Amino acid sequence: MSDTVEVRCPYCYEALELWVDPETRGGFVQDCDVCCRPWQVYVERDPEDGTLHVSVQRAQ
Ligand SMILES: [Zn+2]
Repeated sequence: MSDTVEVRCPYCYEALELWVDPETRGGFVQDCDVCCRPWQVYVERDPEDGTLHVSVQRAQ
């Protein structure tokens, strides 16, 4: 099982599909496909139903 979520780039404001590995938890850095600037991505999953929660911020 894998998931894609729609996220909005905090730099160029493009809406993009982000693929999240089923094993991924916590934070990682990924470059925007459009403007190539770094996102700090945080991934959480609901322990009850597995619902994916993703937030994207500008990486420092
Ligand atoms: Zn961007």
